[in-house]
Amino acid sequence: MIIDCHGHYTTAPPQLQQFRQAQIASLKGGPKAILAGISNDEIRSSLESAQLKFQRERGTDMTIFSPRASAMGHHIGNDEISAEWTLACNDLIARVVKLYPDNFVGVAQLPQSPGVGNDRVVAELERCVTELGFIGCNLNPDPSGGHWTAPPLTDPFWYPVYEKMVELDVPAMVHVSASCNPAFHATGAHYINADTTAFMQFIQADLFKEFPTLRFIIPHGGGAVPYHWGRYRGLAQDMKRPSLSELLQNVYFDTCVYHQAGIDLLTEVIPVKNILFGSEMVGAVRGIDPSTGHYYDDTRRYVESLPLSDAEKKAIFSENARRVFPRLDAKLRKRGL
Ligand SMILES: [Zn+2]
Repeated sequence: MIIDCHGHYTTAPPQLQQFRQAQIASLKGGPKAILAGISNDEIRSSLESAQLKFQRERGTDMTIFSPRASAMGHHIGNDEISAEWTLACNDLIARVVKLYPDNFVGVAQLPQSPGVGNDRVVAELERCVTELGFIGCNLNPDPSGGHWTAPPLTDPFWYPVYEKMVELDVPAMVHVSASCNPAFHATGAHYINADTTAFMQFIQADLFKEFPTLRFIIPHGGGAVPYHWGRYRGLAQDMKRPSLSELLQNVYFDTCVYHQAGIDLLTEVIPVKNILFGSEMVGAVRGIDPSTGHYYDDTRRYVESLPLSDAEKKAIFSENARRVFPRLDAKLRKRGL
């Protein structure tokens, strides 16, 4: 079984984005936004020609699926707007999962808003897990969208979210949204910066002493971290911080690195037990690599080509995800998988 730990509903029916646009217009005095009805057939056709088609073509089985990350837009409006938008996005993911329970399992967007506490975030996480059956969440370390006004992820500001994650036994993927700072391209710079930044924040404080069972996935192959592993080891040493292997009790990386040399390096540096298969399809990079003739984000190919044992590949393809997402493991076991 191949579990893709990183997929977003980037192809949602247009009514969703129309609702968002109306919501943004309402901030400038327009009428209250109303989400137009979306039929099951519209949901089906939005997936059959995209994520489901690629699952079948690439031979992956289940995608851990969340709302489109770049559209979370936590910097827009206020926490009430963010909560309304998040609810619509998460409810749509729940409908996808209901229509295709063998292909998708839900991960929640959170109604974050710059400078606002986490009450709504905690409530929505609880709703998504206990009522919608979701198995994790995407946590944005920078709700300001590229201006980095939030405290580091190790700050007690975030503790209410972590307490709920621990209570529900769900991990978070550290995932920023769009950049409203023109200096940072969203998927090319802001995403990778955030992945790298989150890891450095984890080095600098004792978050996992406080929350020993808290788990984070750093997407996009961990940003710059694996490539600069020696820098981070050296910094931790100079700062008299614990060795990085301690962080690897709580921090995981996906395989959303879109070339073979990158995956080779990732798996040479990061232990297999900390790597979860992910593709982020249909997402940041949608084209075909002319040097291989395959989609850049067809990441299964790169993993298959690694000089690893079948057992190690199985860990990357499914077992690690089942360990990091115990609620997914429970669902699969119930189905005899
Ligand atoms: Zn993503």
